[in-house]
Amino acid sequence: MTALPGIGPQLGRAFERLAGPLVVDLLWHLPTGLIDRRHAPPVKALAAGEVATLRVKVEAHQPGFGRRPYRVLCADDSGVLTLIYFNVKGDYLARLFPVGAERIVSGRVEFYGDQAQLAHPDLVLRPDELDRLRPIEPVYPLTAGLAPRIVQRAVAAALDRVPDLPEWADPGLKRSRGWPGWAEALRSAHNPASSLDLAAAAPARQRLAYDEVLASQLAVALVRARRQRRRGRIIAGTGQLAEKVEAALGFAPTAAQRLAMAEIAADMRQPRRMMRLLQGDVGSGKTLVALMAMLAAVESGAQAALMAPTEILARQHHETLRRLAKPAGVAIGLLTGRERGRARETTLAGLASGLIPIVVGTHALLQPDVAFRDLALAVIDEQHRFGVEQRLALGEKGREADTLLLSATPIPRTLMMTVYGDLDVSPLTEKPPGRRPVDTRTVPLDRLDEVVAAISRALAQGAKAYWICPLVDESEDADLAAVRERAKALERRLPGRVGLVHGQLKATDKDRVMAGFAGGAIDLLVATTVVEVGVDVPAATIMVVEHAERFGLAQLHQLRGRIGRGDQPSTCLLLYQPPLGEVARQRLSTLRETDDGFRIAEEDLRLRGAGEVLGTRQSGLPSLRLADLEAHAELIAVAHDDARLVLDRDPHLASARGEALRLLLYLFRRDEAVQYLRAG
Ligand code: ADP
Ligand code: MG
Repeated sequence: MTALPGIGPQLGRAFERLAGPLVVDLLWHLPTGLIDRRHAPPVKALAAGEVATLRVKVEAHQPGFGRRPYRVLCADDSGVLTLIYFNVKGDYLARLFPVGAERIVSGRVEFYGDQAQLAHPDLVLRPDELDRLRPIEPVYPLTAGLAPRIVQRAVAAALDRVPDLPEWADPGLKRSRGWPGWAEALRSAHNPASSLDLAAAAPARQRLAYDEVLASQLAVALVRARRQRRRGRIIAGTGQLAEKVEAALGFAPTAAQRLAMAEIAADMRQPRRMMRLLQGDVGSGKTLVALMAMLAAVESGAQAALMAPTEILARQHHETLRRLAKPAGVAIGLLTGRERGRARETTLAGLASGLIPIVVGTHALLQPDVAFRDLALAVIDEQHRFGVEQRLALGEKGREADTLLLSATPIPRTLMMTVYGDLDVSPLTEKPPGRRPVDTRTVPLDRLDEVVAAISRALAQGAKAYWICPLVDESEDADLAAVRERAKALERRLPGRVGLVHGQLKATDKDRVMAGFAGGAIDLLVATTVVEVGVDVPAATIMVVEHAERFGLAQLHQLRGRIGRGDQPSTCLLLYQPPLGEVARQRLSTLRETDDGFRIAEEDLRLRGAGEVLGTRQSGLPSLRLADLEAHAELIAVAHDDARLVLDRDPHLASARGEALRLLLYLFRRDEAVQYLRAG
């Protein structure tokens, strides 16, 4: 950025905050509005609120004092215009506006009584500087330390430096859409002539958005192509163990589960490395599908491992899988940070010898001294909780091992392609039968007493309930105190039946409370969002979320997914602190209206934007800046096909267009994908 004239280290930092570190980032910092300075009425025709540009004569100065602003009285033939300045220092206004001189001034018109005025005009020019007046100015998003004019000037300087690059867009597409070339598109996007040019549908904007999604689709396709070239092993289960497990289930897998199981099994039978995402809303039954895949590995004489993001989840999976796998006589090990000493030694030995065919654990599985005799399948639960590296690290402990990722965060279809285009996806679109929809209600916090009374009654009749309190950060003492306080208050109403879990609790204590809740000892579990993911206590039928307005949509959906798991009717009470902001109000009403995870995800995307939905930083994926997932959804699909087609014809990007596409990848910092071209 400091390569641009007039941008030193300090401004450079401000620009980096605004747009990014490189000049090209500034080119992608597109205007969000415009100011039309062509409106040039006489003073007497001015209207409040409009932007006007006037040629006036300076008549007199009225320096300010105290809180009175400085006034410069000007006029044209039709009337008097006052220029207002606050906090004037020195004599610069006297120099800027010599009495008797003509000036061109431009700004937003205000009225004080019937007196037209401009407060701190945007623009003051001498008549001989008229060529510096830009009839239509782009308006850019700003950040502290950067005035509009500085950003305008820097962007203009960046535009002057735009090189002419060979065309990478498909000529047919470009023609049929009437798109300009890249450089032309940038110039036009930064010089809007009317608000039409600011719209997502403007050809220049479309062209730039297309470049961005094409770069991302191409990068994803390259990664995918490389992966498919990576040799894997053929894992073909005999079905013997799976049959025994299924016979003892007590229910039949849903059609969606069967389909996912078949897709995974077919994938594992291929001599390629599997990288598949099993995507299913909370409660859709991913665990069973994962178990069947793990059993296939075991049947073929190898091992499988499942990694979960938290201790609680790992223990619960261990418990569930052990129960499910028991009829098949398959031993399931457990390895978390808490397994130490002898227990840990035994598990490690079992994994190394192959005596333990399946292990469940946390990050602890990634420790260097954890070795397998023959790991063939790595399953990552709640995959978005792990970094990109970690997701792959478990599989690295095996020999050409397959990877199965599980996700309960439904990803909107549009995002799916841009972000997970390199994964094969098995969606679990159907929930196990017999589930009743959760009755969801929103209740203002001032009716807390009524809620507590209602919960007490329900518990007296044998119900089990979660009570979730917000905790922004586990180190926020005030929030933590509030959770403890709530637990205490509820404990007074329901002595001996209330448990409390939060992130600062020792793991053993957490387990004890969770076990108490799953068993019979505890009926009301007060918790922070540690129960958000995966916890499965089918007998729980009530979920209270305190300060629901502080939670995200996806998070509330996850929380609500903890109930409605059994055959009893369930209720979710979202307690909120009025007055609700607009976004919070929309979130809560979406939850009342639907429990369809995909609809909720789409809505979440609309309310929050893509980066946040995905936790972009965590997922290691750059977010989109030029493309708007909603407005340009159709372009994403086109780019998706285009990228595939290009690589089919020209897998090494060696043709002329291929060379141009490499430039595109560099431009959007997808150079890691270019490396794959070489690494093969
Ligand atoms: P999630 O996809 O959220 O991880 P789970 O695998 O924990 O869901 O399954 C949720 C609950 O549904 C569990 O109690 C599980 O035993 C049960 N379940 C799974 N599949 C079926 C099915 N086909 N029919 C009935 N219940 C099922
Ligand atoms: Mg689960």
